[in-house]
Amino acid sequence: MIFLKTDDEIELLRESNLLVAKTLGMLAEHIKPGVSTKQLDDLAEEFIRDHGAIPTFKGFPNPYGSPFPSSICTSINENVVHGIPSSDVVLRDGDIISVDCGTLLNGFCGDSAYTFCVGEVSDEVKQLLKITKEALYLGIEQAVQGRRLGDLGYAIQNHCEQSGYGVVREFVGHGIGHKMHEDPQVPNYGKRGSGTMLKKGMCIAIEPMITMGNRQLIMERDGWTVRTRDRKFAAHFEHTVAVGTCKADILSSFSFIEKVLGDKAI
Ligand code: MG
Ligand code: MG
Repeated sequence: MIFLKTDDEIELLRESNLLVAKTLGMLAEHIKPGVSTKQLDDLAEEFIRDHGAIPTFKGFPNPYGSPFPSSICTSINENVVHGIPSSDVVLRDGDIISVDCGTLLNGFCGDSAYTFCVGEVSDEVKQLLKITKEALYLGIEQAVQGRRLGDLGYAIQNHCEQSGYGVVREFVGHGIGHKMHEDPQVPNYGKRGSGTMLKKGMCIAIEPMITMGNRQLIMERDGWTVRTRDRKFAAHFEHTVAVGTCKADILSSFSFIEKVLGDKAI
């Protein structure tokens, strides 16, 4: 069931998503060679709790195993999503790291993700990040009343496949509100004119997960980390948005990250 949000509820969602945006901006200052993903997780958890919120990912149930142990997901290089932070995983020059962050503040969820470069990254990999981020915004352009989820998915899929990239099917975006995952599911692929019609008041997380090679995935033994089968790199960018009458209202923001990255931003 899709819950439409009132204007007041959308403002509460915006506050939670603003905290996610600030958390990712804070992490952007620490993402460099030599830093472990556990250090990033500790920084994020402290920052989120200091702002009176709860990291929604921590303890998130897993039907196939143990709950998620950390406050952020850190997925490096061939890892697509749901990587578990660890003191054994240390960032190296040339890596990319997708950081996914979720908060619960005043009863509403925030959810946003960004793929960062660590030090100097190859032009080929930067292009993957650029196209994935562009695809996210093309999807967001479709998040207006009267369009359908198939229009949104098509916009993302078409842009990425034109570059020869793979579009992950097994994981998708989602409705968001009091719960992190609400209806509807928001695939990053689709047929124009098909699927659920979008309405003002719907709030959705749009999150293309794009692979440089084949889109086939492997689940690691930890029951969480998802990687590409061919071990080619993958990117993940996510915004939470409210569907608008003429234009989507983006509730999360990359502005804090981009302020830190300056002209190095993708
Ligand atoms: Mg997320
Ligand atoms: Mg999400």
